[in-house]
Amino acid sequence: AKAAGGNRYELADADSDARVIARHSLTNRLPAALDNGEFFIEYQPLVRLTDGTVRGAEALVRWLHPVHGVLGPDQFIPLAESTGLIVPLGRWVLQEAARQARAWRTDGTCEAPLRVNVNLSPSQLRHPALVADTVAVLDSSGLDPSALCLEVTENALIGADEEELRPLRQLADLGVDIALDDFGTGYSNLSYLRRLPVSTLKLDRSFTRGMQCAPADPVDVKIVEGIVSLAHTLDLSVTVEGVETGTQAEHLRVLGCDTAQGWYYARPGPPERLHTLSLVDAAS
Ligand code: C2E
Ligand code: CA
Ligand code: CA
Ligand code: CA
Repeated sequence: AKAAGGNRYELADADSDARVIARHSLTNRLPAALDNGEFFIEYQPLVRLTDGTVRGAEALVRWLHPVHGVLGPDQFIPLAESTGLIVPLGRWVLQEAARQARAWRTDGTCEAPLRVNVNLSPSQLRHPALVADTVAVLDSSGLDPSALCLEVTENALIGADEEELRPLRQLADLGVDIALDDFGTGYSNLSYLRRLPVSTLKLDRSFTRGMQCAPADPVDVKIVEGIVSLAHTLDLSVTVEGVETGTQAEHLRVLGCDTAQGWYYARPGPPERLHTLSLVDAAS
């Protein structure tokens, strides 16, 4: 991590720094890091495009490594995934995020009841205890199932048959929202989309990059228009990622996208920041 002024930092660049940091030493340290409490979560607001209010936040895990500083998930999630540590790590993220979301909803400082989005890795998705673990976390935190959204990547679901989808369907039946993350980067076809127990499409930011400045890329506009119309036909809500400019936000609002997330609104940050953000928005 590099100092970036104030108490901010930038996550180390995955491509250059990962070569320097020996992968195996990171991998070996993962279990101890979990035991030692070296992981922490930043939250990035999810904003409703029609009125700019904060509706919730995505939980994004970071590792405060005693030597290398703050590491981003791209540098250790793949390692955790290949060693199986992602299951206990993911359970910790879920527990911590649920506790935090419950606090946002009960401490009285937020106008609207905030929800929390948590990423699920492919191994977590296939783990036999997924439903039981999630129900246990909801019970122990007291968080309403409808305040939790689990994000699953399109690629993790491609090819899944009905039996493999059953745990997700059970969670959806309990009232948990399921979002299809990085939508548009995989190759799921439209009839497949209909069979999935998802309620939200999270459109990958590659589709909205061409709208950062005016005039917007006309092809990107057409594609987003088509996806929004398809999603709304299927009763799915559309969240757009990587919104970096006001121009982009305005294009996406006009195109009918429901929710936005990106640096234009806020970078991922500590949980306390959600209070100030939602109060500012509620007041304006
Ligand atoms: P993701 O789920 O697609 O999360 C969005 C990523 O985009 C985050 O990167 C976020 O910081 C970044 N981002 C947000 N707004 C902007 C923007 O306006 N512009 C740009 N260029 N980027 C933006 P981050 O935090 O580095 O996370 C990377 C990936 O790591 C996530 O991608 C997700 O797949 C994974 N990840 C993060 N936390 C967890 C976790 O707890 N469990 C699992 N399994 N995966 C996680
Ligand atoms: Ca995500
Ligand atoms: Ca994504
Ligand atoms: Ca991504």
